[in-house]
Amino acid sequence: MSPVEGWLIEIRGTVQGVGFRPWVYRLAQDEGVSGWVRNDDAGVMIQVLGPRRALQRFVHRIRTNPPPAAIIDHLMTSRIPVTDLREFQIVPSEPSGERRVSIPPDLAICSDCVEEIFDATNRRHRYAFTNCTNCGPRYTIARDVPYDRPNTTMQAFTLCEPCAREYETPSDRRFHAQPNACPACGPSLQAVAPDGTPIAGDPLDAATRALRAGQIVAVKGVGGFHLACDATNEAAVTRLRERKQREEKPFAVMVQTLADGEALAILGAAERTLLASVERPIVLVHRRRSARIAEAVAPANPLVGLILAYSPLHHLLVAEAGVPLVMTSGNQSDEPLVYVNDDAFMRLGPIADLFLLHDRDIVTRCDDSVARVIAGSPTVLRRSRGYVPRPIRLLRPVEAPTLACGALLKNTFCLADGNLAYLGPHIGDLENVETFESFCETVERMEHFLGIRPEIVAHDLHPDYMSTHYALGRLEGRKQGVQHHHAHVASAMAEHGLTGQVIGVAYDGTGYGGPAEVNAWGGEVLLADERTFTRLATWRPIALPGGDQAIRQPWRLAVALVRDALGAGFDLTRIPVLAGREVDLIAHMIERRVNTPLAHGVGRYFDAVGAIVLGRGVATYEGQVALELNMAADASERGLYQFDIDETVDPRQVDFRLTTRAIVEDLLDGVAAATIAAKFHNTVTAATAFLIRHAAAHARSAPIVLTGGCFQNARLAESIHAELSPAHRVLLHRQVPPGDGGIALGQALVAGLTA
Ligand code: ZN
Ligand code: ZN
Ligand code: FE
Repeated sequence: MSPVEGWLIEIRGTVQGVGFRPWVYRLAQDEGVSGWVRNDDAGVMIQVLGPRRALQRFVHRIRTNPPPAAIIDHLMTSRIPVTDLREFQIVPSEPSGERRVSIPPDLAICSDCVEEIFDATNRRHRYAFTNCTNCGPRYTIARDVPYDRPNTTMQAFTLCEPCAREYETPSDRRFHAQPNACPACGPSLQAVAPDGTPIAGDPLDAATRALRAGQIVAVKGVGGFHLACDATNEAAVTRLRERKQREEKPFAVMVQTLADGEALAILGAAERTLLASVERPIVLVHRRRSARIAEAVAPANPLVGLILAYSPLHHLLVAEAGVPLVMTSGNQSDEPLVYVNDDAFMRLGPIADLFLLHDRDIVTRCDDSVARVIAGSPTVLRRSRGYVPRPIRLLRPVEAPTLACGALLKNTFCLADGNLAYLGPHIGDLENVETFESFCETVERMEHFLGIRPEIVAHDLHPDYMSTHYALGRLEGRKQGVQHHHAHVASAMAEHGLTGQVIGVAYDGTGYGGPAEVNAWGGEVLLADERTFTRLATWRPIALPGGDQAIRQPWRLAVALVRDALGAGFDLTRIPVLAGREVDLIAHMIERRVNTPLAHGVGRYFDAVGAIVLGRGVATYEGQVALELNMAADASERGLYQFDIDETVDPRQVDFRLTTRAIVEDLLDGVAAATIAAKFHNTVTAATAFLIRHAAAHARSAPIVLTGGCFQNARLAESIHAELSPAHRVLLHRQVPPGDGGIALGQALVAGLTA
């Protein structure tokens, strides 16, 4: 027998509200050690007494195999004097004014709970609100801190005797599970017609009957409403598109298990892990040709957004409907996600045939997150439910509490204090009044949850962004503008813990360069650190005839690109997408610079070339044509076009006029769109690699980060990565979106360190 010792174990990370203490309790029983465990301000503290061997095993098991939703950042052990504690106990938290780490993200239902709801003998059979310490809603139901039942919307329900017993028994899986509930005491479902009339009978049956009949059901979930329909029913999906006024943007499809997902899509190991993760995002994957899903789910798109059921209600719905379900956010095209029952009738009434409601209120709306595997690893494209409010650890602490207000589209904000940066949920496009209101409320609530009073308020330099107005309108805090692409680069630095100089490639559609800049930026290669940057290179600007209209109608960009490359002598109508359009008017606008700003954005090149090559003149959602060009590209094509680098301007510019000429030539020669699209991608990669190599010659050891919305394009990110590795260290976004949804983190870093 090894000698008896006393150890103090301090654990930091996501360890509260995830079933950590009961798990430690059971582990202690298992190893036969005594002592106690409790939550403290910053995580969990454990005191254990026992034979050294047992203590070593105890710590090893915590490190290597913690509960599924826990993330351990740090684990420190120290020796303490041996006392005569005989048992192991869970002791109450130390009361304290600190508020950090108290609210965990919403957790996908665990396998134990899934088993219970499908077990006809279990008292939670078919119960849609089953949860335990390992799973269930958290952030979305929290009204206040600390995260205890009275501070959540579960306060309205009084635990019945069996539930209370579970809640109080340390060895029970539901010990201190704040949202614990059962059919006798917890929330319940209700099926309601669009006119508000309750539908008699079992609500789940009513909903699944409607789904099977091709109807659209508004389902209240964890972070808000979904609009659901049978994903195999072409007419149902088409009807949903019409009513939601969403023409072609892909819908997500929910299935129950990985095996069900496998039947619809080709899944790699990383994709399977991501799909089944406790965050449970929508994962963009390649659908099988044979997949039994309606074409209208993702028209002309080889990818499908797959999501596994993440709440007990979803499991029951998908299982009992017996088909994969379209699960799209419950809103009218540009409005924020609906999350309140009364609101649902008003806003979703014209869309849904039936409402499946419940009486567990949602406090903070939280959209489904979206992720994709890029270069072998997961990249979060929309960071919301499941991830929020888990913090991102900064290498260096910010100098004072910081609020970063983000950009305009796909807005998220960020609150940073010390070494921790908390990105808020996906808010959406702030141009909409309701969305802006949701932004204000969510910022306020998050400040309260975290106990952060921002002394630094960071914002984009764009004077017209609603987020900029909000920042400048705040009474307290030092305001600091951060250049858009610098913020993109800093966001990648923050998540990878980089400090000092990096070479940042920031490619997006449009971002404000600065007050002295006439043109919008978006094809930027920066030499940057956390404080400042220099612009090493950009792309030759492209004209946007009609401004924003050119973004919605990329054929206008095609006119601009082709005219720039081939001159006024070229007959534009020879290009099929331009035949029959008012090309002369647009050419005239470009020439006279009438309502025609210039932009350096690489995203605009993708739009323009997409319009030319695919004959797609109009986009029904942002970035559609660029995405379709990406999808069309032949994976095996290695050829590329010529391009120039214009050294006569400062900063140097990628000049694609030669490239454009060759593309037009190929098009008129009848070369396949797949080939041209691939060669265009390869040329963008080659030009970018050229710029990076040149930059690296001056900053030898600087790592390279790829950031900006264009790097949602997996082919582009992967090919630049492959081209430069391993000679250079190339980092892609992983934890935060490469697009504007990740920009607030970079703003927080820059402003928080430069104050
Ligand atoms: Zn569970
Ligand atoms: Zn109960
Ligand atoms: Fe951007």
